[in-house]
Amino acid sequence: MKPNRQDIMVTRSAHEFPAPYPADHERNLRRVKRRSRRNTLLLLLITLGFIIYWNKLPIPEFLEPENSVRDISPVTGLHPIVAAKQNELIRLTGKAGITILITDGFRSKEEQDALYRQGRSDDGPIVTHAKGGESYHNYGLAIDFALRTDDGNVIWDLEYDGNGNGESDWMEVVSIAKELGFTWGGDWASFRDYPHLQMDFGYSIRELKNGKRPPVQAETSIP
Ligand SMILES: [Zn+2]
Repeated sequence: MKPNRQDIMVTRSAHEFPAPYPADHERNLRRVKRRSRRNTLLLLLITLGFIIYWNKLPIPEFLEPENSVRDISPVTGLHPIVAAKQNELIRLTGKAGITILITDGFRSKEEQDALYRQGRSDDGPIVTHAKGGESYHNYGLAIDFALRTDDGNVIWDLEYDGNGNGESDWMEVVSIAKELGFTWGGDWASFRDYPHLQMDFGYSIRELKNGKRPPVQAETSIP
């Protein structure tokens, strides 16, 4: 078969360019290596970022391995340390002339789901953005409080100054709670939850959902 014009051109041009000099070759090799090192590093960073991000996301139920929650005894009440701190909070606020009422502590998954329906499929205002299993209340690590006035009314008034010391009682309670180690829902950037106090012991909701539990005994406590 007679080669066509294009084939001849390709053959000729391949001959016209000689193989690179060894020095060039070396340089190219170095450049390729450098690039691949950079790519590996970039990939590593992306993976790391993804892992960090993923840990903060609630895991979809269909991805949740079934046996990861099988062996864990369900939480049925307040964590003992949280319970002790709650009693301490009641005592210390009482000393400051403020009577508080703990309106909520441990909440079951079902109770949380019912609360989540409020303001959505059910009547009433929206009071939570957490479904069952997604609130620290479901692991006995959060409490909600309200103020009780001298005439027995329960109020959620952030301005109220019942002990007459010129400070808001609510914020006095919050500050005592923080000293006891609670974090306050009023500090949250998105949905501010003013009555909410929690102790997460460094555990994310995802970890708790996966069955991790804070130790019952404080690790630093000396017998
Ligand atoms: Zn709460």
